[in-house]
Amino acid sequence: MGRSADSHRDSLWSATAEEPAAEARSLVGEATAEVAVIGGGYTGLSAALNLAEAGARVTLVEGREIGWGGSGRNGGQVIPGVKLDPSELRARFGEERGAALASSVGASADAVFARIARHAIRCAPVRHGWIQAAHAAPALARVQRRGAEWQQAGAPVEMLDARAIAARTGTEEYVGGWRDGRAGTVHPLSYARGLARAARAAGATLHADSPAQRLVREQGGWRIETPRGALRARSVVVATNAYTDGLVPGLAKTLLTLQSIQIATAPLREPLAARILPGGECVSETRRLAFYFRRSPDGRLILGGRGAAGEEERAALFRALRGALARLYPEAARLPIEYRWSGQVALTLDGMPRVHEPAPGLFVGLGYNGRGVAMATLMGEWLAARIHAGREAPLPRTDIAPIAWHAARKPAIALGIAWAWARDRMGFAG
Ligand SMILES: Cc1cc2nc3c(=O)[nH]c(=O)nc-3n(C[C@H](O)[C@H](O)[C@H](O)COP(=O)(O)OP(=O)(O)OC[C@H]3O[C@@H](n4cnc5c(N)ncnc54)[C@H](O)[C@@H]3O)c2cc1C
Repeated sequence: MGRSADSHRDSLWSATAEEPAAEARSLVGEATAEVAVIGGGYTGLSAALNLAEAGARVTLVEGREIGWGGSGRNGGQVIPGVKLDPSELRARFGEERGAALASSVGASADAVFARIARHAIRCAPVRHGWIQAAHAAPALARVQRRGAEWQQAGAPVEMLDARAIAARTGTEEYVGGWRDGRAGTVHPLSYARGLARAARAAGATLHADSPAQRLVREQGGWRIETPRGALRARSVVVATNAYTDGLVPGLAKTLLTLQSIQIATAPLREPLAARILPGGECVSETRRLAFYFRRSPDGRLILGGRGAAGEEERAALFRALRGALARLYPEAARLPIEYRWSGQVALTLDGMPRVHEPAPGLFVGLGYNGRGVAMATLMGEWLAARIHAGREAPLPRTDIAPIAWHAARKPAIALGIAWAWARDRMGFAG
């Protein structure tokens, strides 16, 4: 397994999940499947669910628990799209392919909420929109262009000036922004567990506590070795995102991992509760090292941020988060912080997710740049369609191309963070 067990059990989500932990025993002995899935987060679960629904015999192995990775501890902001806007996608991938990709990623939040409704997943889904809040004028111009593009593409978009955003958020910190009505929020761990429940009901087999330690090519397929068993399959989906280890040569070196951390206050009381996010939106800032926030299903304020390469900086990050809370919502900052937790996000150099097929029958989807609730769900659909119907994903696949300076990533990330802070102070959009 890859990185250390950063805080998962301390999260608000572990304490409040309505969906019970998925029933998934460790893999013991020899097993076979048509498709093996490695990783029990949204990517793997969505792939397993879609494949099982298409009639494939699927077995998923997760190294820890279902939802242990980013999928069980994220902010639960369900935001459609990717870092590149529709016009940028068309410029990069060509008119036709770029437009198809924009339309697919633009509908990713629909895919999440449709799944939740279909399987009655108890994850407190609300679709009250996402606000991208500009911290300075240059950033505002950039994000309003982005909002206008999605509006043109038919998305329910609203532009917000300084007054409107202050009324929506309850803070005067922002100069404006836009609101994307396609987005919403979920309880992320319950969403993962609900997908697991649906995948099992559709016929998939799930094993927790079963880290894939070796992946070996055999005649007619692959063999995955776990501490107490082995799984043979014709096709394998690798869905390990920020927790990617050495299983697929070079894969971990295609990603930069950063800590993302979150705090949750005690439940807000009136009159504060009526002032902070009264419309139930979730928010991300335009800063490169952005803070993001939302209300929890039980009325708390959850604030998150990212920006450290290693565990040792985590304490400093928590302090920075408390500072941001005091700046945004001084009254809320006086409430006790009842939960704090963290996890890893996987960044790619161009901010785009990746689809790889490094060998026949081996399928990889990852690199969500901290925006994977909707995108990883969609990636699972893409990979499943590729395997059972031979349909290429709308995102062109690429070779596994390790980042040349990956060995020096820690100092490089530290430098990048300093650079991002400087740009943020100058007001650029992230
Ligand atoms: C603190 C935080 C806040 C975030 N907030 C948001 C947000 O608000 N909105 C949003 O869209 N995105 C957010 N994200 C990102 C989002 O959580 C991820 O993009 C998404 O969960 C990725 O899903 P995944 O299934 O690809 O990976 P994960 O959910 O990370 O799952 C990968 C799994 O693979 C397992 N694994 C690894 N190696 C092996 C192995 N060898 N064998 C077996 N299993 C293995 C791991 O144990 C892990 O459970 C956030 C992330 C974090 C950490």
